[in-house]
Amino acid sequence: MRIQRLSVEDALRSLRSDPQGLSSTEALRRLEEYGLNLVQEIRGRSLAFRFLAQFTHFFALILWVAAALAFVAERNQPGGGMATLGYAILGVILVNGAFSFWQEYRAERAIAALRRMLPQHAKALRDGKLTDIPAVQLVPGDVLLLEEGDVVPADCRLIDGAGIRVNAAALTGESVALSRVAAPSDNDDLIRAANVLLAGTSLVGGQGRALAFATGMHTEFGKIAGLTQTVQEPPTPLQLEIGRLSRLVAIISTALGVVFFAIGQALGLPFWANLTFAIGIIVANVPEGLLPTVTLALAAGAQRMARRNALVRHLPSVEALGAVTVICTDKTGTLTTNRMTVRRLYLSGRFLDDGREIARAMPEASPERRLFEAARLCHDLKTVQRDGRTQVVGDPMEAALVESAALVVPDVDDGGRLDEIPFDADRKRLAVVQRTSTGAVLYVKGALETVLPLCRQVVQGTGTTVLTRELREQIGAAQGTMAHSGLRVLAFAYRPVAEPYERDALESDLILSGLVGLEDPPRPEVPDAIRRCREAGIKVIMITGDHPSTAVAIGREIGLLGSAEPLVYRGEELRRVSNTQLQLALDAPEIVFARVDPDQKMRIVQVLKRKGAIVAATGDGVNDAPALRQADVGIAMGLTGTEVAREAADIVLADDNFASIVNAVEEGRTVFANIRKFLTYILTSNVPELIPYLAFVLLRIPLALTIVQILAVDLGTDLLPALALGAERPDPQVMRQPPRLRTRRLLDAGLLTRAYLFLGLLEGAAAMTTFFFVLTRGGWSYGQQLAPDDPLYLQATTATLSAIIVAQIANVFLCRSETRSTFRLGILTNPLILGGILGEVLLILAIVYLPAGHRVFGTAPIPAAAWLVAAACAVGMFGLEEVRKAVLRRRTPA
Ligand code: ATP
Repeated sequence: MRIQRLSVEDALRSLRSDPQGLSSTEALRRLEEYGLNLVQEIRGRSLAFRFLAQFTHFFALILWVAAALAFVAERNQPGGGMATLGYAILGVILVNGAFSFWQEYRAERAIAALRRMLPQHAKALRDGKLTDIPAVQLVPGDVLLLEEGDVVPADCRLIDGAGIRVNAAALTGESVALSRVAAPSDNDDLIRAANVLLAGTSLVGGQGRALAFATGMHTEFGKIAGLTQTVQEPPTPLQLEIGRLSRLVAIISTALGVVFFAIGQALGLPFWANLTFAIGIIVANVPEGLLPTVTLALAAGAQRMARRNALVRHLPSVEALGAVTVICTDKTGTLTTNRMTVRRLYLSGRFLDDGREIARAMPEASPERRLFEAARLCHDLKTVQRDGRTQVVGDPMEAALVESAALVVPDVDDGGRLDEIPFDADRKRLAVVQRTSTGAVLYVKGALETVLPLCRQVVQGTGTTVLTRELREQIGAAQGTMAHSGLRVLAFAYRPVAEPYERDALESDLILSGLVGLEDPPRPEVPDAIRRCREAGIKVIMITGDHPSTAVAIGREIGLLGSAEPLVYRGEELRRVSNTQLQLALDAPEIVFARVDPDQKMRIVQVLKRKGAIVAATGDGVNDAPALRQADVGIAMGLTGTEVAREAADIVLADDNFASIVNAVEEGRTVFANIRKFLTYILTSNVPELIPYLAFVLLRIPLALTIVQILAVDLGTDLLPALALGAERPDPQVMRQPPRLRTRRLLDAGLLTRAYLFLGLLEGAAAMTTFFFVLTRGGWSYGQQLAPDDPLYLQATTATLSAIIVAQIANVFLCRSETRSTFRLGILTNPLILGGILGEVLLILAIVYLPAGHRVFGTAPIPAAAWLVAAACAVGMFGLEEVRKAVLRRRTPA
């Protein structure tokens, strides 16, 4: 019979298991028989396909055409050297494609590796003990403990549990919570059977034990994964932008090629020579090294973020982070350390700073004891065996409460747990029914606002008294006093329970036993991070489930709130305002949301986005997932967060720390800035590559640079410094500027003007000056034609090539900032650039002085004077750009 139809006992029996789970030897045996609990990763497009794609994009197509034209030219004019060019271009396509592919592959692998750093554990009963095991080791017959936030690791039959709700969106696509119970079901459909928890679904509430009956590819999820044809991820904004850029450059270069071909024809140049120049113009304009450099810059950004504790799950969020204008952050654990200490109690109408002083005078049967008993018993902490040691896992606040209550009541009347209504951020309280020597007792702990309305009496000394309105107000004021000093306040209540009881009516008629104030100090790095956000024009909004006064006190302590009257919005007020009102409220310079429910967090994010903000939002709970998805950058907590939150997030913080978010924003901004840096660098050298062709066609000057020499620059000497620019460290200025507008283009008019019309023209002038210097020194005069193998001609083109490279060495320093002086940045601050220049210098020396270089690139050794002229021109270019930057700085002071 199907497992969902069996009773719990029969289901266990059918898998030869029992409520205490399997023995580890049996589990090992089953692991061999059934294999690892692994769902094969759904593959994207095949590697071969992606490899081919590197040879069919726009740049590559243009180069293919150029190569084909070269071979046609060779056929019509054999021996003209065009075949060599054709092969060179083919080589370029091949090298470029292989390199891009390797970069993409590496970036993908790096991200996959980051994903694997997310925990993948399951709590299973092995040898009768609750054990934390890697989820891949689960076998059919294992009994698992599942609780809110867990993603179900294998197909399971529920055997007991309370309040369990699952979200089966991973399988059905519908994101609704379905309730699950252990009783047999006569539904044959596994997805619908009310006692089945399928792998890949997640628990959004409750906890219980379940029996694994299918693992790995035998699970429903595995079957679907096996069948599914992969869906292509949509291209990221950056990819679109790069695509746009490639097309633009390709169209410009092709158009230029065609125009100059036409001019050449009109001027009566020989057809095949003219065609060669047209190809040269195209090759000169296509920035061959661009694509691999961009991919590398992104991957390098993701890697640097990982080093600073932000693990990137989606590569595009690297770039989105750089544009963030608002960060919505939780308080507990993100702004604070989540290291809690009990500081104050409010008991029988008085504040106590140390519970122990009253404990001595407190009789055994005093109802005041109930506060401490509740603190010891009403929690969700678990002990698990990890690496052979027993560890307490769970909320640090609960651990602190248990620990300090144990000092007051070392012996607690604990007959075991009968029932519980789990904590969730909407209810803001936890209720447990405990067996004690005097019968069952219900203990409740939670936010005072949610506990007090359930209470009818309050503990007063050795008895209890009815809660009058004054008393309620007094207690509210006591919470206010503690919250005001930054303490997190919890209310405790209890009631004896007669069995059998009605579960729905459990939490009523309670007796309030007292309040506890816990200190949760801010993280030391946070004030500085908040200051950096302010400088960077990023608004930080605290959205917390905690009390408004606690939120404000912490906000002040970390420097988030400076004004006397910051705007504090409570969840209940939020419910009353319209989106338009909220939208206006969000204009307030300082705003805090307190006592909010997780679904309200999503609404705040939505409204912020409507205002045009780019929003990063943090979250850890199951109910935070919608807000994380809604945000432009969803950030989940790696340490305390639930699996569901992590799945929904773009970025996972390894240390849960707010300061890490700010560091990640800095890296995101840097990636964008770095791409612009090397774009400027690469585009600059296109101009001196182009000018010789224009000069040849228009002014009949001997061609100053051959096509192979162009390729030597684009794919040889330019590449290493460009990579070094892509890996530049964050500039301190990057966090002192307002966030970049989402509409701002990578390649805008400013960048193009600087690269082509300023730096490019200067570099072109440097190249042509050096060319003419060598020519005239060798006795050339205007109008004289030179044979392609004339030693003077070889020297002169070599001089042009060398001058471009010398100018690019100056340029790499200039490109490090769009406005700041190189001297302020420091010459030695990016060792990679120095390495890149060293590579560049060795390469050019080999091209100019080694016989192999002469053969491949058609070069000849040049005199020292030519180097001096090139160097002087580069210094001139450097100086002029520094002057331009200085003028710019004066006009727009930082
Ligand atoms: P943040 O949203 O900034 O992390 P928070 O931790 O206070 O703040 P929640 O976890 O949503 O937010 O908790 C909301 C409120 O619920 C808390 O202020 C507290 O009063 C109550 N609460 C939190 N944890 C527990 C718990 N384990 N048991 C009972 N009540 C709790």
